[in-house]
Amino acid sequence: MMKNGNVAEIFGEKVFNLPTMKSRLPKETYKSLLKTINTGAKLDEKVAEVVANAMKDWAIENGCTHYTHWFQPMTGFTAEKHDSFIQPTSDSTVIMEFSGKELVMGEPDASSFPSGGLRATFEARGYTAWDPTSFAFIKDNSLYIPTTFLSYTGEVLDKKTPLLRSMEAINKQAKRVLKCFGKNPERVVSYVGPEQEYFLVDKKLRDQRKDLLLTGRTLFGAMPPKGQEMDDHYFGQIKERISAFMKEVDEELWKLGIYAKTKHNEVAPAQHEIAPVFSTTNISTDHNQLTMEMLKKVAGRHGLYCLLNEKPYEGINGSGKHNNWSIGTSDGELLLKPGSHPMDNVQFLLFLAAVIKAVNKYATILRVSVATAGNDHRLGANEAPPAIVSVYLGDQLAQIVDELISGNHEDSAVAEFIETGVEALPILKKDATDRNRTSPFAFTGNRFEFRMPGSSQSIAGINIVINTIVADTLSECADALEGCDDVKAKALELAVDMFKENQAVIFNGNGYSDEWVEEAERRGLPNLKTTPEAMPYFKSELSLALFEKHGVFSRTETTTRTDIMMEEYDKTLNIEALTMLDMAKQEILPTCLSYAKFVADGVAVKQSIGIDAAAEKAFAKELTELTSELMTKIEELSVAVAGTPSMEEDAFATGMYYVDTVIPAMNALRKVADTLETKVSKEYWPMPTYTDLLYHV
Ligand code: ADP
Ligand code: MG
Repeated sequence: MMKNGNVAEIFGEKVFNLPTMKSRLPKETYKSLLKTINTGAKLDEKVAEVVANAMKDWAIENGCTHYTHWFQPMTGFTAEKHDSFIQPTSDSTVIMEFSGKELVMGEPDASSFPSGGLRATFEARGYTAWDPTSFAFIKDNSLYIPTTFLSYTGEVLDKKTPLLRSMEAINKQAKRVLKCFGKNPERVVSYVGPEQEYFLVDKKLRDQRKDLLLTGRTLFGAMPPKGQEMDDHYFGQIKERISAFMKEVDEELWKLGIYAKTKHNEVAPAQHEIAPVFSTTNISTDHNQLTMEMLKKVAGRHGLYCLLNEKPYEGINGSGKHNNWSIGTSDGELLLKPGSHPMDNVQFLLFLAAVIKAVNKYATILRVSVATAGNDHRLGANEAPPAIVSVYLGDQLAQIVDELISGNHEDSAVAEFIETGVEALPILKKDATDRNRTSPFAFTGNRFEFRMPGSSQSIAGINIVINTIVADTLSECADALEGCDDVKAKALELAVDMFKENQAVIFNGNGYSDEWVEEAERRGLPNLKTTPEAMPYFKSELSLALFEKHGVFSRTETTTRTDIMMEEYDKTLNIEALTMLDMAKQEILPTCLSYAKFVADGVAVKQSIGIDAAAEKAFAKELTELTSELMTKIEELSVAVAGTPSMEEDAFATGMYYVDTVIPAMNALRKVADTLETKVSKEYWPMPTYTDLLYHV
C-alpha cells in the first residue's frame, strides 16, 4: 500500500513513459521515437530494435516474464495473448529476448473475433501493430504493448485503428481552417475526459442472481421501499468499504499513468462515478478500458462486484459515461474556447458552428454510436437524455447565436462578444455554464459534453463518430475559406449560415420533458428510440460516404461494422430472454407453487379443526391466480422466443422482432413475477431482492 501523499512517486511507475524512455534510450533513439509519437512518422527498424531491448530490460527489472500485444477488437473489450521472453539456448538454458520485430508486429489468431464476414475463419490471420502513441505498461507481470489490429488483407478488425484515422481526419481539416486564420500548429488533437458511472454490489449476493451473473443486469426485482427519492446518495458520504475500494482503484490507476481525479457517490444507492483528467482521445480510450477493468478487478478484492451495465436496476437511475470532447492545437490553444481577440472569436464561432452543423447533419449516426441493448433502457428514461440528439449552448451563447441568426450582427451582444470574447460570456469564466444536465450534447465552456453514451461502452466508437463528423463540416469550411481575401468576414458569414441552417438542433430547455419530444418532432429531429430502429442509419449513404471521404472506414468496413453491432444487440437480447425463462421456470415458479401450497395447507388444517380462515383462503386464491398467470406469461415468452427469425438471415429484422414481440413478453412476465415477489415470504424467495442488492454494500 502506498504511503499517504506519495502519489507523485507512484504515478506512472508501471508505464514506459517519456521520462523512462529518456533515461533508458540512447539520445538519438529517443529523439526519433519522440518524433514518431508526436507526428506519426514511420519508425525505423533499427530504432525499434533498440526500443524493444530497453523495454524488455525495464520490464524484467519490474518483475515481468511475459509480453503481450494489447488490442481492442470489435467486442468492445480488450484482448491479449501473452508470450514469455524466454529464448532457448544450445546448452538447454534460456535467455530473455525481445526483438524489434516482436515489438512492432504480432500475429494472434484472429478467427474468433467478430469481423462481420470480413475475414472467413479459414483466413484466420490477423496482425497487431504497435501504436507508439500510447505508452506500453506493466500489469500482472506482463509487458503490455498497445496495438492496432488488422486482417491479412489490411481491413481493420479493431476500434483503435479507425479512432487513430479519425484523429488524423480532424487534424487535417482543422489545420486547413486554421491556416486560413494564419495559424500553423504542428498538430490539432481531439481530447476526451470520460466520466465513468458504475454500481457496486456485494459479490456473494450477486452470485446468487443468475441474471446479474449472465447478463450484468437484473431481469426481475420489485422496487425496494426506498429508492433514490430522498436524494441522499448523490455526493453523499462515502462508506468505509467503498472508500477503501476507491482508494485502491485510484492507486492502481495512478501506477498505470492514468489521471484518476474525481470520485463521488452518484444519484442511485450503490452508484458511483470516477473521472480522470482529460487526455488525447486514443490515450483516453486506452485508459478508460483499463479503468473499467480495474474497477472490476479491485471490486473482487473487496468482496464486491462492479456492474458496468447501463441499467442494472429498473426504476433506479442507470449509468452513463459522459464523453467530454474538445479539440486543441499542439501549441495549447483550445479551439472551442472563446479568446479575447476579435479574430480568435470569429474563429471560435466558426468552430462552434461547425460542431453544431455536424451534430445536426449526422444526428442519426451519433445516435447509433450510443445504440446498445443496455443503453436502450436508459435513453429516454427519466434519468438520461432522450434518444433525440440536440445541442445545448447556455443562455449567453444562445443569445449571441440568436442575434447572429436574426441578422443583428452589429448588435450589442454579438459585437461585444467578438471584441472581448470570454469577457462577454461571464458564465464561462465561472466554469458553470448552467449545467443543463438534461441535454445530450451540451457546451460547457471549452468543450462539449456528450451525455448519451452508456457506461459499459468503449469510447472508441463514439469518438470515431464525433471526430469524423466534425472533420467533415470543418472540411467544408476550409473549402470555402481557402483563397479568400477577407477571412474574418467570410468566416463570420459561414458561421451565421451554419447557425441558421442548423438551429433546429439547438435546444436550451428541459430535455427530459414530454413537451420536448413533441417539439422535436415538429422540428423534424429524429427520435430513434431503440437500437434496431437506429442501426440501419449507420449503413445509409450519408454514413458510407462520410467515413469513406475521410479515410476512416471503407464502405465495406462501415457495412460490416453495422452488422456486428446489430448482431451484438440480437445476441444480448437472446441471452436476456433465455435467462429470464430459466429463472422463471427453475426458481420463481417452483417458489410460488410451494408458497401457495404452504398457505393453502394452513387453510385446510385450520378449517379441519373449525377455525375460520377466510382471509388466508382469499390469499391462497390470489397466490394461485397470480401463479397461474405467471405460467401463462412464461409460456407466452417461450413462444415469442421460439419464433425469433434467424439472425444469420437478417440481423436487423431479428432486432425489430425483439423490440416488437420479445421485449413486450419479457416485460409482461417480469410484471407478474415482481408482483409475486411482494406477496411471497422472503424466506421462500429464491434470490436476493433489490433491498439486499442496493443497501448491503
Ligand atoms: P461534471 O461536473 O460534468 O460532472 P467532472 O469533473 O466529473 O465534471 O468531469 C469533467 C470531465 O471533463 C473531466 O474528465 C475533465 O478532465 C474533462 N475536461 C475538462 N476540460 C476538458 C476539455 N477541454 N476537453 C475534454 N475534456 C475536458
Ligand atoms: Mg461528473
